Amino acid sequence: MSKAIQAVRGMNDLLPEAVERWQRVEASARDVMCAYGYREIRLPLLEKSELFACSIGTQTDIVEKEMYSFEDRSGENLTLRPEGTAGCVRAGIENGFLHNQIQRLWYAGPMFRHERPQKGRYRQFHQIGVEAFGIESPDIDAELILMCARLWQTLGLDGLSLELNSLGTPESRTAYRTELMRYLSARRDQLDEDSLRRLEKNPMRILDSKNPAMREVIAGAPNLHDHLDEGSRGHFERLGEYLRESGVVFAINPRLVRGLDYYTRTVFEWTTDRLGAQSAVCAGGRYDGLVEHLGGKPTPAAGFAIGMERLVELLALQSDSHPAVRPHGYLILLGDEAEKRGLKLAESLRSAGFRIEHNCGGGGLKVQFKRADRSGARLALLIGEDEVRNASITIKNLRDGAQRSVAQSELIDLLLKDTPRGTAP
Ligand code: ATP
Ligand code: MG
Repeated sequence: MSKAIQAVRGMNDLLPEAVERWQRVEASARDVMCAYGYREIRLPLLEKSELFACSIGTQTDIVEKEMYSFEDRSGENLTLRPEGTAGCVRAGIENGFLHNQIQRLWYAGPMFRHERPQKGRYRQFHQIGVEAFGIESPDIDAELILMCARLWQTLGLDGLSLELNSLGTPESRTAYRTELMRYLSARRDQLDEDSLRRLEKNPMRILDSKNPAMREVIAGAPNLHDHLDEGSRGHFERLGEYLRESGVVFAINPRLVRGLDYYTRTVFEWTTDRLGAQSAVCAGGRYDGLVEHLGGKPTPAAGFAIGMERLVELLALQSDSHPAVRPHGYLILLGDEAEKRGLKLAESLRSAGFRIEHNCGGGGLKVQFKRADRSGARLALLIGEDEVRNASITIKNLRDGAQRSVAQSELIDLLLKDTPRGTAP
């Protein structure tokens, strides 16, 4: 026999138990985004490769070495999206919903990056992304951060800390870049291979290095804040005031830069010390230059992306008390006549709001009870020959073993009185 085919490295199956946890996070996120007036947008997983080269920048880790790019059958160069902002902006320009308007949008779904798989870092991972277009003032930056804070609170998550920085404008960064380049060039012997490569074209990316050996040289680097233009400085101070006023705790980290080239002014990151090396759960900021850069009219914009795997993992560490969703009842049917009535009964129970798992595929009493146990249902509802004859149904509580028989016509009323519905088991 040949060896069974396995999944692609770094791409995970999410089994039903995990999916239930994911769905809770997704539902909370949807509620939070809705509460702030954000609307969902769904975008293709595949885009033209040039979109990412243009928007993310050719000097970034993503474009340099992480993209899943290929030529399709008609020779077009395509890439599985490594992040969502580029596609969202592309869609905005193409569908004309960015110019002269305010748009608050969110999306969720898989992203693809060819990274070295490890805990918290996968090749297919999932993000919830949020983008706000058309607002230049820092109140929207504050709103985005408050949304994150509200989501953590809704999920009962603690231990996430917020770091903030301002990257200024591309113009104000030029002078800083020159100074940074001078500083780093004088310390070439301390730079790793990646950093040496970036030194000429994108020295700020060096500040984003994950290599611990680079820590010292980064710590001594000139401070971007000393070079901020007045507009960016005011913007950043105002954001700080808004956050303090709203009770959001943050730390300013002048070394916080984003891997993506299109960020301007505000950048932020939510991190945790509970997930080891992969500590960033959410990252975002302002990218005022991107829409124009991709061929649209100048449009201020800001957004963030949450790494779902890391968020869910964090939740799992905090023994979350949500019970899994299970059927209220498992319908056991013995004999042809019972099976015939069973389908109809199950339908009427579902119409009354109950989650019912119906025994399909026959089987003896023992087998069906075993399946009922495995389903996690609280009640087994049994119709056998006696019950068919008497138009009754036997209800067995699978938690305490209590059993009784009632008329089929009274079943729904009785269950409505006795069973908590909704998502509780
Ligand atoms: P990192 O510094 O961890 O590589 P990044 O700067 O590449 O992150 P972004 O592009 O800003 O990350 O993506 C936003 C979030 O998406 C990250 O904070 C993280 O939670 C998550 N993320 C990014 N890459 C991966 C990955 N390969 N696997 C799982 N989650 C990821
Ligand atoms: Mg990365």
